[in-house]
Amino acid sequence: MKKILIANRGEIALRVHRACQEMGIRTVAVHSTADASAMHVRLADESVCIGPPSARDSYLNVAAILSAATITGAEGIHPGYGFLSENARFAEMVEAHGLTFIGPTADHIRMMGDKIAAKDAMRRLGVPLVPGSLGALESLDEARTVAEQVMYPVLIKAAAGGGGRGMKVARNADEIEEAWRVARTEAKAAFGDDAVYLEKYLDRPRHIELQILADTHGNVVHFGERDCSLQRRHQKLVEEAGSPVLTAAERDALGAQVTTALKGLGYRNAGTLEFLWQDGQFAFIEMNTRLQVEHPVTEMVCGVDLVREQIRIAAGEALGYGQEDVRFGGHAIECRITAEDPETFAPSPGKVTTFHAPGGLGVRVDSALYSGYSVPPHYDSLVAKLVVHAPTRAQAIARARRALDEMVVDGIKTTIPLHRRIMADPEFQAGDYTIHWLERFVAR
Ligand code: ADP
Repeated sequence: MKKILIANRGEIALRVHRACQEMGIRTVAVHSTADASAMHVRLADESVCIGPPSARDSYLNVAAILSAATITGAEGIHPGYGFLSENARFAEMVEAHGLTFIGPTADHIRMMGDKIAAKDAMRRLGVPLVPGSLGALESLDEARTVAEQVMYPVLIKAAAGGGGRGMKVARNADEIEEAWRVARTEAKAAFGDDAVYLEKYLDRPRHIELQILADTHGNVVHFGERDCSLQRRHQKLVEEAGSPVLTAAERDALGAQVTTALKGLGYRNAGTLEFLWQDGQFAFIEMNTRLQVEHPVTEMVCGVDLVREQIRIAAGEALGYGQEDVRFGGHAIECRITAEDPETFAPSPGKVTTFHAPGGLGVRVDSALYSGYSVPPHYDSLVAKLVVHAPTRAQAIARARRALDEMVVDGIKTTIPLHRRIMADPEFQAGDYTIHWLERFVAR
């Protein structure tokens, strides 16, 4: 491929652009009217305005994006994360227009986008699951029956779920009716689909996910795990590679199981399998068929450029290395910095008067900010990812603290002060946390 259109904005559009530049591939940026002066537009070789500020009319506007690709002569489209990245119909239309979709097949996107189908596929491939309903719940009575079988507390989840929406806990039989009703209403409102399923609600799990790459020649390789347990409202805030609790043997065992399963599935390109881990047991919850926000921590410990690999795979190249060639070096931590009040989490868009990125050994900042840039109110609040890499976890934390102290984002509120507090906390430093830890920490 000689030219790629990047169907995204912000830091991830820059991330893809950088990989393309290093591969000698020209880039086409697309942007809304609100993003005319955005960094991804400034850096790309070409840019096309695809609509007004509302994402529905611009970054989700399939016709405008395909037209932009056609008029600029792009050969491939990289969707980044969010927006159209997990839209099977979009992947199909890209291919129908004779372009390469840099991602998995539409069928795999569709399968994993339906969490019930995803769990079913993984169960058949022998991957362990969180106990729960086999398929969608047909009625409240069925929900009650399954809840009694797996034992309360339980979680009712939207089949089409994402972003932590359409998920409700029932602690006992008195709460099941309400959880059933609210989860379905939320699912219908957010996804236009009220299909729900039930899982046992684990009381103190960690969220541990595994990064894989699969080429079109039958090779599947994993790049180890990321621990993403630090979440607020089921949204990740800090991610680490590797997990403070996992041994190399446990990683290898999970990796072998997952790569075998994905070979069975005939999966291609990048993917992440998400698990809950409790008492030494893994239980699959979902698979993301795209690049993840937190992919840089994996890149730092494995020394791999995942976007470059995605593009090579989409072009039909073989990986050219095997599992034994993947090495894990040191520890990496990512802090997601958002334009939000660090205490109330109220959005804080607006003009950035000064932006100064930290630097030095083992520090990486993925951000589309610059001094004088106005963060628009229309999109996701993520404005920077601070990623640090060091030989040990303790050194990585020290490096993160040093880098957070150097970093300046003036004019808007950001979550930098919250990250400073987390990195300074003894429990975090001990690696002693579950998915519920951060909610309590924030409330302190
Ligand atoms: P989404 O697609 O909305 O992000 P996920 O299924 O990935 O939903 O779950 C998001 C988060 O919700 C998980 O990382 C975990 O913190 C929590 N969660 C999901 N399922 C369970 C469960 N069965 N028990 C406890 N927590 C869960």
